[in-house]
Amino acid sequence: MNQKTILPGQTIGILGGGQLGRMMAISAKQMGYRIAVLDPVEDCPCAQVAGSVITADYDDPDAAKKMADVADVVTYEFENVDVKTVDYLQENSYLPQGGHLLEITKDRLNEKAAIQSAGLPVAPYMPVRNTKELEEAIDTIGFPSVLKTTQGGYDGKGQYVLKSKADLEEALPYIGKTPFELEKWLPFEKEISVIVARSTTGETSVFPVAENIHRHNILHHTLVPARISDNLREEATQHALRLAEALHLVGTLAVEMFVGTDGRVYVNETAPRPHNSGHFSINACETSQFEQHIRAICGLPLASAQLLKPVIMVNILGQHVQPVLDKISELSSAHLHLYGKDAAKTGRKMGHLTILGDTVDEAIEKAEQIGIWKI
Ligand code: ADP
Ligand code: MG
Repeated sequence: MNQKTILPGQTIGILGGGQLGRMMAISAKQMGYRIAVLDPVEDCPCAQVAGSVITADYDDPDAAKKMADVADVVTYEFENVDVKTVDYLQENSYLPQGGHLLEITKDRLNEKAAIQSAGLPVAPYMPVRNTKELEEAIDTIGFPSVLKTTQGGYDGKGQYVLKSKADLEEALPYIGKTPFELEKWLPFEKEISVIVARSTTGETSVFPVAENIHRHNILHHTLVPARISDNLREEATQHALRLAEALHLVGTLAVEMFVGTDGRVYVNETAPRPHNSGHFSINACETSQFEQHIRAICGLPLASAQLLKPVIMVNILGQHVQPVLDKISELSSAHLHLYGKDAAKTGRKMGHLTILGDTVDEAIEKAEQIGIWKI
């Protein structure tokens, strides 16, 4: 592997300038790195903290060239990076994470196959690329199940939950036009996630298991430590580590999992980057997921990801921004993170609040005192 040590003072290029890029940049700047970001939007969250900003489409060859000129190492904050840009940067710059992991994780069928070949359990699934495959998949997997587009879905977008044949109607016009997969609906006790980092040297580090509560398919809050048995915690941690090794991870991988009602831990999906469910680590862990990511791609030793205090992280969506600002004088026990986005559209991720406690229950109690559930 072409492995280098990138030192503070050198420039980290980030493809994508959303909140994940911004928080990577903030960590990197603390350590003395310079930041260049490529994003189509001039005043994007990361541009506000970066030293150099390349405002262009992700598939613009001139922009890729500019990035290669300015950056000593390049990383990305999202998985749908343009393939040509990735290829160009692999050839002409230093992209230690490579393009291979993106190929796998941006397509649910590739991803599921990779998870299975690492020996880890997933919900039974079948490809649905035409109406014939849809019939076969329904015959085999049945109801309840969920039809998901194989690419581009997030926050439940591109998904159809099927309780019976009648629910298929909405999806039918798209069958054959967009590739889907049909997945058995897994009855679960909890949704959990684990962030794992692996550096260019092969060193690994795992963050504590997080318990995730979604509302309307968007992460609403995360609790750490997850309220599960130690055996399940160990199983989830081992799943993440095993996947990191099997995928030859460099950088950060978020592994979303279900604790099934059958007592097994299933892998749902992965993301080859820091993740919303890892934001708690900024205030609650010895090292944040963002600092660990920077260390991993720069070839620095990984630092301890140990949890210092139990924590709740609550997302601030567009509709929550004003209510949070109205309460700002009561937020002495809550750490406020806002991402610098202007348009507070409903459902848009605008920031998060982190509240620490001596126990998870105490952290929840403090959140309740602030009236966080009513925000
Ligand atoms: P996204 O990319 O939109 O996050 P996910 O595959 O994580 O897609 O699905 C979104 C949510 O839908 C999950 O967090 C979970 O709550 C639910 N879900 C998805 N697949 C299943 C399944 N097979 N069984 C039960 N719940 C599921
Ligand atoms: Mg998900």
